[in-house]
Parts: sequence; structure tokens; C-alpha cells
Amino acid sequence: MPLVELKGVSKRFGKVVASSNIDLRIEDGEYVTILGPSGCGKTTLIRMIAGILEPSEGKVLIGGRDMDGVPIEERDIGYVFQNIALFPHLNVLENVSYGPIAKDADQEEQRKVPARYLGLVNLLDRMKMFPSALSGGEQQKVALARALASGARILLLDEPLSALDARVRMDLRYELRRITKDLGLTVLHVTHDQEEAMTVSDRIVLMRRGRIVESNTPEMMYRAPKELFTANFIGETNLLDGVVVASGDERTLVELRDGSVMGAQPSQFEPGDAVVISVRPECVHVADDGLSAIVRSMSFMGTYIRITAEADSEDILGFDVRVPRGRDFNIGDHVHLGWSMESALVYPRPPGGIAEAVKLE
Ligand code: ATP
Repeated sequence: MPLVELKGVSKRFGKVVASSNIDLRIEDGEYVTILGPSGCGKTTLIRMIAGILEPSEGKVLIGGRDMDGVPIEERDIGYVFQNIALFPHLNVLENVSYGPIAKDADQEEQRKVPARYLGLVNLLDRMKMFPSALSGGEQQKVALARALASGARILLLDEPLSALDARVRMDLRYELRRITKDLGLTVLHVTHDQEEAMTVSDRIVLMRRGRIVESNTPEMMYRAPKELFTANFIGETNLLDGVVVASGDERTLVELRDGSVMGAQPSQFEPGDAVVISVRPECVHVADDGLSAIVRSMSFMGTYIRITAEADSEDILGFDVRVPRGRDFNIGDHVHLGWSMESALVYPRPPGGIAEAVKLE
């Protein structure tokens, strides 16, 4: 039985439609991230599951039971919200012990469980401190330990790692996945950070303007996004306007705006169709022929150099070159760029143009 289900859920605040007709099933034990740009409705969605907000329409079900009118404390939910709400009059240990005590766990458990999770977030030495004396990142870790210690079967995490340093954030996200998998918890994790979503989730639900754009495993969201918005939001991509000149079982051939004909994966498009090709920077390489372009900028990224080049069509393309070879390029160089047909995807050209289709708000 799915543990969390949303059926036709909408939420309006006056004229603002924060959620629009959302259908979503989260299976028992699944780790799902809700990803999307700021203001797309992620927090609203998670708050309706928690019972902090009531849907304007539709139903939230947990374990098959309609949650209409059921308060948060009866929903079997542990949560970490953006504005961390620790109990200010309780110290760190008391905050984390709150769940086990409220649940009337036995003495042994009341002692062991909070210490286990405080150890995990490296805060055993802060046990006696009050929230006001902690940094934002430390408060976030306490909130996380408290949610885990609550013993709830569902965890709702709204940007739970946002106040942490990049390095700590990286370590903690692996820990978070490992612990929640060990405990068999169902997790809904809200983030606007696509790298975080890629690394922790079983499945990513991508939202835009109050709606779900698409939902799939991180790998499929990256390798085979169904929508242009997804291709652009998850990872980076080059988007090029063109017209199909040939289409078959092995490839689609597209004439770009500068007249060059480039290949892409097979598709359902017919010659004459207006399309957009999406090809990721790591798949673009310098070739003997192909798209003619001038190198405009070079950025050192560590193991590779990101080069941007302007094609004759005025399209700007990014491509990556391993560091030793990257040094062979200079701004102003004339290059030809190509890619393997399998690495390029084809989408219908959006009526409102590419910029509108991938716009973040
Ligand atoms: P962020 O990543 O910036 O936190 P989000 O994706 O979580 O954004 P929400 O906080 O769910 O987005 O907001 C979705 C939309 O609903 C926004 O336009 C927001 O201004 C609006 N909204 C949210 N809560 C309220 C409210 N209580 N009253 C009025 N409008 C609201």
C-alpha cells in the first residue's frame, strides 16, 4: 500500500495558485525529493501532507486513510521545516528526546535514541546548550536529529541541509539516505538543489508553477528527460533551434539555424517539424567538421575546463575539455563542434520559444 497519496490536490492563496491538481503516490520506504525553482509550490505541498495547510481541493491520504481534519501529531510524521522550530526553553538533548518521551518509550530507549542521532550529526558535545547559542547549521542538525528520534515512519524535510556548509551538507546527505533506508522510512525531501536531489533520492518529482512537470529516477531525469524544462533544470544543457530534415529508426537529422545538419536520437518527428535539440556540455566535443563556432570564454572547473563558444547562428554552446587538453584552446579560436547522435535529444519547439519554456519562475 502506498504510504502517502495526493489526489487532485490544489491550494490557492487568494489569486495565487500554489498547487494545481497534484496527483502523487509515494510508496512505503521510498525516498522522494520534490525539486523545483523558488516559489514553485514545494513547501505548500509538503505542508499539506503535514496537515499545517488544508488543501483547497483534493485529498491527502496516509496509509490509505483520508487525512481531512487529522492533526499533525496523528499523522506519524517527523519533520524539519525551513524555519527551524526547536523548543527554545529546552536544551539540545531535551529537544531531541522530546519524541521518545512523548511516545512514552522505555527508559533505555529514551536515553539511547537521542544520543544515537546526536552522535550522528556530531553534536554530542553541544547536548546541554540551548538553541539560541547554536549556529543556524547546528540548529538544522538538531532539528534533523529530533525528527529521526521521533520514531515517525514518514519524514518530511523542507530544505533540511540549506544552512550547512557545502562539505558538511555533502557528508550529511549520504548519511541521511543511509539512515532513512536502514530504518525503512518514507521520506519527502524538498530542495531547490538539483545535485542534492540527484544524490539522495530514489525518485525526483520536478515541480514548476504549482504543477508536477515529471517524475522519475535521478538517472532517467538526467538521461531521458521528457520535458525541455527538465532537461534544462536538471544538469546543464545546450538547447538549439532547428528543423527536422530526415527522421528514421536510427537517428533524427536536424538543420540548425546556421544551415549545418546535426544528428540526434531517433524520434517521432517528421521532416519539416520545428524542434529543439538538447545536448549536454560533457557530450559536445571538438570535431573535424560540424557546427562552426568561435571560443568566447573558458572557465577552469578543476578536472575540466568549461568552454563557451558562439556558433555562426549566434547560439552559445558550452562544452567541457579535460584539463591538459583544455590548455590548447584560446579565446577567439575557431572550432567545429560535434556530438554522438545518442547523446542529443529532440523536443518539439515550444510555441512561446525556448526561453519561456525553461524560465525558472
Ligand atoms: P521556496 O523554494 O522559495 O521556499 P516553494 O517552492 O517552497 O518556494 P511555496 O512556498 O510553496 O514555494 O510558495 C508557492 C507560491 O504560493 C508562491 O507564489 C508563494 O508566494 C505563495 N504562497 C505560499 N504561502 C502563502 C501564503 N500563506 N499566503 C499567500 N501566498 C502564499
